[in-house]
Amino acid sequence: MRRKLVVGNWKMHGLAADLRELDRLADAHMHTACDVVICPPATLIATAAARIEATPLMVGAQDCHPQDNGAHTGDIAAPMLADAGARLVIVGHSERRADHGEEDTLIALKMRAAHRAGLQAILCVGETERERDTGQTLDVVGRQLADGLPDDADASNTVIAYEPVWAIGSGRTPDDTQIEEVHGFMRSILQERDTAQGDAIRLLYGGSVKPDNAAAIFAIPDVDGALVGGASLRATHFSAIIAALESARR
Ligand code: PEP
Repeated sequence: MRRKLVVGNWKMHGLAADLRELDRLADAHMHTACDVVICPPATLIATAAARIEATPLMVGAQDCHPQDNGAHTGDIAAPMLADAGARLVIVGHSERRADHGEEDTLIALKMRAAHRAGLQAILCVGETERERDTGQTLDVVGRQLADGLPDDADASNTVIAYEPVWAIGSGRTPDDTQIEEVHGFMRSILQERDTAQGDAIRLLYGGSVKPDNAAAIFAIPDVDGALVGGASLRATHFSAIIAALESARR
C-alpha cells in the first residue's frame, strides 16, 4: 500500500511572514494520514523546519547540486538541505530544465546526491506541448526515467512526478485518460526494473492541480498524490487539495 503524498512547491515565492501559512495547514491537518510536504525557497527551509517540528508536515527543497560540497558559488548541496531540516528535494523540475539547461545526466547525479544525503528525491518528468502534439509523450517520459533514475533509486528514496510542461501554471490539465496512460506506463517501466520497488514507488501528478480538480485527479489509477505549485501558496487552497487526497479511495 503506497502512502499518499502531496507536495507544495513554492518556487521563488515566499518571505518569512508567509510561513504563517504553515501554521494554518498544520492546524487543519494535524491528524492527516497523508504525507504533506512544503518546499519553500531555500532561504526559508531552516525556519520552516523548526516551525513545523511538532506537526505531521515535512519540509522539502526545490533543487540540489550534484556534489556534496565545493567551489560552486551560489549553489546548495544536498547535505546542507538535510542539515537545514529538509526531508525531500525536487529534482529535474521543468523550470530548471528550461531556465538552467539541466539534462537527464545531470539530473541523475543530483538524484544520487540527494540519496547520499538521506533525502527522498522527487524526479520530475513530462513532455512539452509540442512533444504531446507530435505523439512523443511516452518516448519522452520513458527516456527521462531511463536516464534520470540512478541505479540506487527505490521506494524509500525516490518519488516520480509526472508534470506535463504545458500544464504547469497554465490552468490546463491533461484529461483523465491521458494521465492514466502516462502513470500506467511509468508504473510498468518501474516494475520492469524491479517488481517490488516498482509497485511501491509513489507516482505524483503535477500541473495546475487546484481545489476543484483535485478529487477527480486523485481518483485516477496509479496517482498517489500531487505536486502542486500555485495552489500551494495559500493554506486555504492547499488544504482543500490535501482534504481531497485524504478522502480519495484507492
Ligand atoms: C509545479 O511547478 O510543479 C506545478 C505543478 O505548478 P502549478 O501547480 O502551478 O501548475
